[in-house]
Amino acid sequence: MERSWEANKNADDELLGDAVREAVVSFRFDALGADGAPVRLGIMGGTFDPIHMGHLACAEMARDACGLDAVVFMVAANPSLKQQRTLASVAERFAMCALAIADDPRFDLSALEARRGGITYTSDTMCIVRDHYPDNVELSFIIGADSLATLRQWHDADLLKRMVRFICVSRPGAFDEPELLRACRDEGFRLDHVSAPLLDISSSEIRQRVGEGRTIRYLVPRAVSDYIEEKGLYGITG
Ligand code: ATP
Ligand code: MG
Repeated sequence: MERSWEANKNADDELLGDAVREAVVSFRFDALGADGAPVRLGIMGGTFDPIHMGHLACAEMARDACGLDAVVFMVAANPSLKQQRTLASVAERFAMCALAIADDPRFDLSALEARRGGITYTSDTMCIVRDHYPDNVELSFIIGADSLATLRQWHDADLLKRMVRFICVSRPGAFDEPELLRACRDEGFRLDHVSAPLLDISSSEIRQRVGEGRTIRYLVPRAVSDYIEEKGLYGITG
């Protein structure tokens, strides 16, 4: 089921090629669990504006620590039709994720939210994902520790608690982690914690650096920095 993500380099208004458009969850992993054997799938949601090494390391550390067979990056749609000029479009964010994961057969990305557009709740997305896979596929949702603070307020939290396990990966600056982990577990979240090397990288900082003409090399994959440069993303446009 190997495929090339090269086509996405040219993604503009067109989000994806046919094969990806037709996938329900992800091109690489739609058939996961079809043989009835137990499988663990991680989903990592984000705006990925742009995807950076912190995201990739977070997914990989979660995969390794929790024995996940595959990880799918769920690229959020544009929350509003009015795009700020300094942010990338959903097609561009998707293309950058595609470039970032291209060489890793255990990673893929999903167009599920990007296709639906607007604000999508994780609970709605995970219902579709859950419906798609047989019961032998266990679902985990990967979050950075900064997301713990709001987890209990997520839309349809009770449904999420039943449907998915959460994997929380440490992130620099995340406040009061042990206390929040306890509070979430007390409220019924099935929540694993993964301590990983702390990478103090954020998309906001990447955007700011690009805007100021500073380097982002080694903070994002080379193909992503090339894409940003080629498309003139995040630049000061006056
Ligand atoms: P922004 O600065 O625009 O908010 P971000 O770097 O936080 O961008 P998001 O797309 O908001 O990236 O994050 C998606 C997911 O990745 C979140 O669950 C977030 O906690 C996690 N994450 C992002 N960066 C890191 C990092 N450096 N280490 C661990 N987790 C991270
Ligand atoms: Mg963020």
